[in-house]
Amino acid sequence: MSAVLAMIDFSPETGEATGFHLVDATSPQLRVDDLAATRGDGVFETISVSYGRLQALDAHLERLAVSARMLDLPAPQLGVWREAIIAVGDALSATGLDEGSVKVVLTRGVEGGTAPTGWALGLPSPDFTRERTEGISVVLLDRGYRHDVASTSPWLLAGAKTLSYAVNRAARREAERRGADDVLFVSSDGYLLEGAVSSLLLLHGDRLVTPRVDIGILAGTTQADVFAWAESEGLQTGYELLRPADLASADAAWFVSSVRHATPLREVDGVARPIDAGLTARLNEALLARID
Ligand code: PLP
Repeated sequence: MSAVLAMIDFSPETGEATGFHLVDATSPQLRVDDLAATRGDGVFETISVSYGRLQALDAHLERLAVSARMLDLPAPQLGVWREAIIAVGDALSATGLDEGSVKVVLTRGVEGGTAPTGWALGLPSPDFTRERTEGISVVLLDRGYRHDVASTSPWLLAGAKTLSYAVNRAARREAERRGADDVLFVSSDGYLLEGAVSSLLLLHGDRLVTPRVDIGILAGTTQADVFAWAESEGLQTGYELLRPADLASADAAWFVSSVRHATPLREVDGVARPIDAGLTARLNEALLARID
């Protein structure tokens, strides 16, 4: 596996990022008392690398800063992170791969320390051709929070991209136990939210809609780029409060995310759904060709 790793250098005095250095990706780098390891206390981003280009880099850097603010982490020096991500993306692309990703992680650092920990890890992507063309099956699972959780209980960090993804992984295993590929979370008061690692898109006629991002879900960079593309193609777009009935009546539905891009939902809770193969192909073509 041709992984590429850059560790961010932090000043122990100020806690600010001062630069980065490339290291052997298989060498040990993380201390066992880092709060990422002991508490899942940190934030991350995953950026697609498609045919030599980093995609939506600005949007990912902005969201890294937003997540850091939500966790009261020190504001990341985005210039340093950008350079590290570009160096990793370039080194990854130089291995000749078509699709890969750069995962960036910012943690609260070692317990009792004075600086955060951070790195950017480049990896080749699996082949998602089947998911992108044939689609995936999902089950609706209750996330257990109301759709207003972000305003009533901000300490639950709904909508931040934190390292604590054990719940998302558990939900995916539950989906698998129920015979499905993935999960679509629903709020306890009945609104469609998001997947474990993706945003939801529904097509009604020539209108593409996604759940409002103020309901405790992640503001998707891929969804935002899909909307920009869809508008240029003459489709209408909208952020709405959506219910399972809106999914049942949709002409087509997708999960979208960095790296996997657009995957049609071909089955929801065991019921087959129509796939718009033509629009899906155009969507994925546009997503693979994205430049920042
Ligand atoms: N929602 C969740 C919970 C995610 O983890 C992700 C991506 O990992 C997304 C949505 C999609 O975000 P993006 O399109 O920026 O990758």
